[in-house]
Amino acid sequence: MQKKSLYKIGSLCLLVLVLLSIPQCSPGNNSVGASIYNSVAKFFGENNTFDFTQLKGKENVYPIVVIGSGPAGLSAGLYGARAKKKTLVIEGTKPGGLLTETSYVENWPGFKAILGKDLMKELKAQAAHFGAQFLEDTVEKVDFSKWPYEIYTDDGKIIYALSVIVATGASPSPLNIPGEKEFWGKGVTTCAICDAPFYAGKNVVVIGGGDSSIAEAIQLSAYADKITILVRKDKMRAAPTNQELLAGYPKVSVMFNIEPKEILGDAKHVTGIKLYNTKTQETTVMPIDGVFLAIGHKPNTKLVQGSLKLDDNGYIVVEGRTQATSIPGVYAAGDVEDHRYRQAGIAAGSGIKAALDADAWLNELGFTQAVSDSLDNTQMASVVIEPSLVRHMGTQEEFQKMIQESKIPVIVDFYADYCPTCMQMLPHFKMVAQQFKDLALFASIDIAKLPDLAQKYHVSKIPLILVFKDGTLAARYNTEMGKKEIQDLVAQAVGQTPAE
Ligand code: NDP
Repeated sequence: MQKKSLYKIGSLCLLVLVLLSIPQCSPGNNSVGASIYNSVAKFFGENNTFDFTQLKGKENVYPIVVIGSGPAGLSAGLYGARAKKKTLVIEGTKPGGLLTETSYVENWPGFKAILGKDLMKELKAQAAHFGAQFLEDTVEKVDFSKWPYEIYTDDGKIIYALSVIVATGASPSPLNIPGEKEFWGKGVTTCAICDAPFYAGKNVVVIGGGDSSIAEAIQLSAYADKITILVRKDKMRAAPTNQELLAGYPKVSVMFNIEPKEILGDAKHVTGIKLYNTKTQETTVMPIDGVFLAIGHKPNTKLVQGSLKLDDNGYIVVEGRTQATSIPGVYAAGDVEDHRYRQAGIAAGSGIKAALDADAWLNELGFTQAVSDSLDNTQMASVVIEPSLVRHMGTQEEFQKMIQESKIPVIVDFYADYCPTCMQMLPHFKMVAQQFKDLALFASIDIAKLPDLAQKYHVSKIPLILVFKDGTLAARYNTEMGKKEIQDLVAQAVGQTPAE
């Protein structure tokens, strides 16, 4: 039935194209004409069609699946749900996206200032209110070579998507200089909001000349004694209004024409940075205690490499004024496709456009309420967490007793309420604790409540996971982790291979 109607639409479109030369039916002009054209051109004549009868009996079928939960993903979730299409938002490793790591956002229309994490919380609540479903999981791979599109999660779920919105955002870029990897978590970090309290009274540098470098420096000024922003050119790229803000922070200074060459340190921590002055051509060593990187971002497109068309910088290419990608019914929104504006408001707008495009496309395919009703309607069940599985440590003595007496490995998550990455990781940690409850003990330590313990284990970056075996420290993991990474490290700690 749908196949027939598509044939009709496709033939009509081609006929119009040939006879009247009306451009709307060629790809890239408007979303309706373009997507019908793409659907017909790409899939007709192949084994797959957009035939809804093939969905019968399949579980976890969603008309709209959004991958990512930053401003683009959540806005897409809101509009998908409001269009009365069952919409699933797969939250990924960083629910709420990068905005949860910034402090006050002053350029979101309608708010003079709102905390990034609060903005994302409200956006999620709004999308959920209208029926968007959320899955605390990460996508491992996608298969866009057949329809319905298949989405495989780290937890082993397969989700069938009639349309997909990729909103995976961008991640902080690395510097790629000697010492950066070696001292990661030992003085090198990208998150001032998480780690600034470890630098009370210290001397630190922030690398980069964009708006993030200013935001990081301002965060740090509440703790560090001296903050130097190192800019590689003779001017900053940051907005002039943000640059003017620095006048109010006497502890912050800016050095221009400086290229960082190497991060130096002793066995435990960063002690200095080797710098090259491009004007004087001098190389010097600056003694410092910490390096905060703010040198821009790279789009998170690994998942779709080989399936979607990317530009030379790795961003997803979208068609004209739509959010359509090179695969019909697959859309991209936010920083994963936008290297020009990279603003939360723009990301939200593109998420809205993507959901409108997906909705229009589904309607064109003949996705009616009757088809919707025929789909499996089970909600993606969230795992119920037994709260007692992760023991919250109240005293140092309690913790020492646990690691000394335990016959099985003890896995400890050091966190703080003010650290958004930590708060994103905790639910994953709890889920993994449930999975491995018979093989290891799990504990969480709020470093703000037990600072002596944090000092004892040289905690200078959170989140931090420590593994204890037979009463001694066996492994240290100082990176931001999703559920899969935590599962892998725990599997290793308990002697399983990560794939088990
Ligand atoms: P940007 O891409 O804007 O800036 C990156 C900075 O890092 C540039 O100054 C760049 O130098 C420098 N850089 C890049 N690579 C290196 C390197 N290898 N060594 C030394 N320096 C390097 O990234 P941001 O994260 O600052 O901002 C991203 C987006 O988010 C922007 O659109 C920004 O406006 C927005 N944003 C807005 C905020 C706000 O308004 N409150 C806060 C934070 C971000 P060069 O200039 O020479 O290329």
